[in-house]
Amino acid sequence: MSYSTKGRKPFERASKISHAEIINNPKVQEFINGCTIPKPADATTVASLMTSVPPPVDPQFKVVVAIDGGYTETPVRKEFPSAAITFFTFGPLVFRLDDLRALDETPFIAPEDLARLKKIQRYTIVLPTKNISRNGLSLRRSVRQTLHEFIGEKVHDDPPLSEALRFLLLRGWTTAGDKKWVIPRCPNDGCDHVNLEITASTPDLGKCPKCSGPVYLIDSLRLHERVDEEQGASGILSYVMTSLEQIVLVHLIKALWDAKPALLREVLFIKDGPLAFFGQTSPLARPMRELAAFLNSQPAPGGGPATTLPLLNVVGLEKSGAFVEHASQIEDRLNPETALILTNDYIYKYIVPGDPSSTDPYGKNTYWGGKLIYKAPDRNVYVATVPTGEFKPSPAFEDFANLAEILSVLASLRCSMYDNALIPIALVNKLVSLSDFPSARILQTFAKGNLT
Ligand SMILES: [Zn+2]
Repeated sequence: MSYSTKGRKPFERASKISHAEIINNPKVQEFINGCTIPKPADATTVASLMTSVPPPVDPQFKVVVAIDGGYTETPVRKEFPSAAITFFTFGPLVFRLDDLRALDETPFIAPEDLARLKKIQRYTIVLPTKNISRNGLSLRRSVRQTLHEFIGEKVHDDPPLSEALRFLLLRGWTTAGDKKWVIPRCPNDGCDHVNLEITASTPDLGKCPKCSGPVYLIDSLRLHERVDEEQGASGILSYVMTSLEQIVLVHLIKALWDAKPALLREVLFIKDGPLAFFGQTSPLARPMRELAAFLNSQPAPGGGPATTLPLLNVVGLEKSGAFVEHASQIEDRLNPETALILTNDYIYKYIVPGDPSSTDPYGKNTYWGGKLIYKAPDRNVYVATVPTGEFKPSPAFEDFANLAEILSVLASLRCSMYDNALIPIALVNKLVSLSDFPSARILQTFAKGNLT
């Protein structure tokens, strides 16, 4: 995620204790001495795991679709600063690879170059976050209803995002598999009804059989479970952002699949952040992994083996967090044109503290791809997730769908983990920068029309 919230942070006051004071406190020292903190892998370990990246055999990509977004939490009224809303803006940007390569050769990005973007479709959503309600509803209900209305909106001639969510939950690409989705508990306050089923005939706005309260399709993400009436909904913002970005990805995949499946082979989707669903939204990782595996098992045109020409080409790129910190620690030990495939053992040993022998390997319930660190010929470094079909705790290079071509395009775009060389994510960020939007007007309209 390239943006952080600019609103008031709940524990700002804690920062008045200095870092040195905390770290030198005997109790803290004693605690840290009993903890494990990941250390960078040594040069020998890294050298033994490096895999050289071959040039792509039969390049297919013509189009790059970058999906990114940002959000800002902001107080609504000066005299009541604890009442906050959050403004999200996100969406796909569609570039022709030829245009991007031409852009890359120019010394700066001129405004007219931006006009080369084939299509700009921005979604915006205003979410009530704290001490605010829609027409007297609870905060939790206000959040649910807002998300429900948002995914039901039609943007231009596109079908609403709710259709993409339904396609994902009910596995609309196949007649096999599970055709229902279960919400473990009624989302309405005070109701203890369990296992609400969503099937093909369930409307986007249904009803709980016990309390008769609304059950929205969007309740399948269970974001409401983390909304607290007093503490607010700030805890769900990053989950909202990443879930919606991935629903947009499904929306685009579905559009191409419905129109002309073979076109998918010519598209590289680049998503900001890992290919994963975290927290309460993590059950969505499973159908997402199934969708990727399904698309990549389709026969190639002319009857070639499917694995050489996968239909779905997608990469998640990380720019912050533990994996990026680790990559920057070891990048000098990596040779250019090599990849370090991150296995469960390696991740738990060097990146995220955990038990490598655990029966719950890293990412099994959250990721729909495998992770790797790639060093391009120009020495830019990338932390990437790429689909691997079924979950594999120790994937090999060839388990990743079309990895050689994906990495070669990343290298040519130079959208590495460092902010100073990001294309096309840099363009996306430029375009979604909140200062470019009349956000004040949007917020005022919202405040006047819907708040009580
Ligand atoms: Zn109920």
